[in-house]
Amino acid sequence: MVGEKRLVLPGDRVGVIEEFVHKEGFWANRNGEIVAKRAGFVGYELRRHEVMLKPLKRDARPSPGDTVLAAVRELQDRVMWCDILGVAGLKKVLRYSGAILRTSKLLDYNVGDLVIARVVDDTFGTFTLSVEGKELGLVLGFCDVCGKTLVDRVNLLHCNLCRRTYRKKVSTYYRNFGKLLFMFPAATLTQVP
Ligand SMILES: [Zn+2]
Repeated sequence: MVGEKRLVLPGDRVGVIEEFVHKEGFWANRNGEIVAKRAGFVGYELRRHEVMLKPLKRDARPSPGDTVLAAVRELQDRVMWCDILGVAGLKKVLRYSGAILRTSKLLDYNVGDLVIARVVDDTFGTFTLSVEGKELGLVLGFCDVCGKTLVDRVNLLHCNLCRRTYRKKVSTYYRNFGKLLFMFPAATLTQVP
């Protein structure tokens, strides 16, 4: 690739067919001009007379409003620190830090628990996450005492080993791993038993 990469928008002309062979991402109009089909960076390979388009990708950094899969890393009195494992719909693997405010007893999650949350903001360099909403909340939880995976039964979580029950904010996708992997292609659910 030669020369500085130039940002183009759909419809921008990048050359003529007499000069360049165009690859994916372009079409040639009636005047023999090569036109970009989508936004991206254009590069020219002058020796091979090729013009190429590197499509503009959405930044893989989470932004407010995104739905993320996160693992609880550390508990403090008022904050739960999480590792963001993936953003819904994005294939790239992400490792960002997030914080869920522990505003309710229902948010007594454990270290290692997996949650689906929405990004509220990133004002302080950490993403503030919320689990308010039907599909948001715990998707995989573990027993406080024995560490066994909790089973969801009529609004309560059960540990089949020590027969404890827990009331926590649970997502409608609790233990629905097929759905979760579909939503978060970047996440590998290694903790799945
Ligand atoms: Zn237990």
